[in-house]
Parts: sequence; structure tokens; C-alpha cells
Amino acid sequence: MTRTKLPELSALERIIELGAKKLDVRVVRHVSLPDGSQLPVYAIALGSPDPTAPIVGYFGGVHGLERIGAEVVIAYLQSLVMRLQWDSTLHQQLESVRLVFMPIVNPGGMALGTRANPHGVDLMRNAPVQAQEPVPFLVGGQRYSASLPWYRGPLNAPMEVENQAICEVIEREFFPRAFSLCVDCHSGFGTRDRLWFPFAHKREPMAHLAELQALKNIFVQSNSYHRYVVEPQSLQYLAHGDLWDHLYLQSLAKPERIFLPLTLEMGSWLWVKKNPRQLFSRHGIFNPLIEHRQQRVLRQHQSLLDFLSRAASGHRLWLPNAEQRALLHAQALLDWY
Ligand SMILES: [Zn+2]
Repeated sequence: MTRTKLPELSALERIIELGAKKLDVRVVRHVSLPDGSQLPVYAIALGSPDPTAPIVGYFGGVHGLERIGAEVVIAYLQSLVMRLQWDSTLHQQLESVRLVFMPIVNPGGMALGTRANPHGVDLMRNAPVQAQEPVPFLVGGQRYSASLPWYRGPLNAPMEVENQAICEVIEREFFPRAFSLCVDCHSGFGTRDRLWFPFAHKREPMAHLAELQALKNIFVQSNSYHRYVVEPQSLQYLAHGDLWDHLYLQSLAKPERIFLPLTLEMGSWLWVKKNPRQLFSRHGIFNPLIEHRQQRVLRQHQSLLDFLSRAASGHRLWLPNAEQRALLHAQALLDWY
């Protein structure tokens, strides 16, 4: 099998080799490129094998141009694999939580230098969810043409293989558990770093708004200088076909299950403002071009990713009871709706 060169994939495979004994590695799907070559979509798991333990998912590279998202996830996986060699507190933590990494969901798009996958489909407009109010023209998802951005894919077609890979992992590893969290790392929207939660397809609040508010509260309390805007995606724009909305809606089939999917949107317009030459590079709009800035971006988000694994591991200590739920729900409505 020939291999298109993709530095992020090579880096990931080196880390997989280094962590071999401690990692459960699976190629969930292969993606075909126009030249006939194929690239793997990896899922890498570590931590508790207990099927009832909480789980956290780290996703990146859904949009092929947003390499920094893949890199942030790979950097966190690398630091865990390195710390496994000496950090006994990490070993203890991993006894109570399972972590799953899919850092390069769309290797085909990344190899081709496109936001969409090799079929021209935008993976975050491709799920079978229809927005309930008008969406922004094109950006909200369109079915005119695969050669325009934000293409949803043909009507009534199955989801693209990359999304099938995510769904399979979520259904197999996440849905059997009582508590799970995940974060999907993107870049390119606005000047601030944002943490989005469902919904993208409607303005109404999600069923687990209180849990989201509780998670935000413990995050803010333990990271007083954090720079994230935490909000429902619908506050910024509505879209058709959001995969995390789709999976969240699926998760509600079992009412006692809590599945909280987050999207990290790293605000890259700031990088462009600091270095306007980036506007002239297609990759530059979505990724910090200057090495030290890239290192800073990678470093900045590591504590968020680490927080999520700790929050999942300690979820029983902060999840609200019925009485607290009502209060948190009301607080969240005031903040966001
Ligand atoms: Zn994106």
C-alpha cells in the first residue's frame, strides 16, 4: 500500500510505537485518496479496561486544514505516553478513567490540504440532523455542490467513512458507560478560544445543561485565568449536519446515560492579526505559522485536555443531584439563553 506523506500521521505512529505496551490501537477505517493510496483512521485507547469506568474522547483533524487541532491532541497523547514511564500519579488516575484518542479523523483532507474529506464533504455538516431554523447561507451546510465549501454530502446517503469511524467508536466505547465526555479540537473561528457544547441545529438548550454548567463551574474555579468562552454553539451560528448534535441526540435514548460532547474552537483570527502574512497562506488562516506561537498554542490547551480527564475520573464528586440540577439549569438559562 503506498502512503501519502503526512507528518502528523508519522508523529502519531511514532508515539504509538513508543507506547506500544500501554495502548490499545485500532485502525477503525481506511480512507481512500484520489491517487488510489489509503490512509488509516486510528483510535488509540489507554487507561482503565473496566467497561463501567468513565471515558473521555479526544478528537482532532476533522477538518483537514485545521492541523493545529490534530497537533494539540497528538501533543497531549505524547505527554501521557512519556509520563507513563515515570509518573505514578498518572497510573493511579488511569485506573479510574479510560481515554480514547482519534487525533486525525480526516487524514485524506489533511493530505490533500482541504477542509472537507476527499469526497468534498464537510464532516461537520454530514450527519443526519436538520437545523430547525434558517442557517447562514453556505456556512450552515449546503447540498448545491461538492466543489463549494460546507457540502453536506448527497441526500439520504450514509455518513462518510470518517464519521462512521467516530460513530463506531462512540457507540462501542462511550454509550455503554454511565458517564462520558469528549472534545473535538478545531481552529479558525473568531479571535477567542471557544468551548462549544450542543446544540448547533437549534437554539433550545440541551437536556444536560445543568451538568454542563457544573462542569464549567469546576473548570472556572480551578483555572481562574482561563481564556475560554464557554457557550452553546447556537449562540454563534446554526448549522445542519453537526455530528456531535447527532451523537448527543442518540445518547438520550438511554436517559440515565450522560454523554457531554464539547468542541474546542481555537480562535485563529488572532494569529492572523499578529502576523498578517498568514492571510496569504491557505493553511495559515487556520494554523499559527510561527514556530514559537505554535508551541504556545500547543502548550495552552494541554491543561484543558488534562482537566477533562480529571473531571471524568472524579465525576461523582461534582455531578449535581436533583436539587442542584434545577438551580444550575436556571443559572445556565440566564447565562446563555
Ligand atoms: Zn473545524
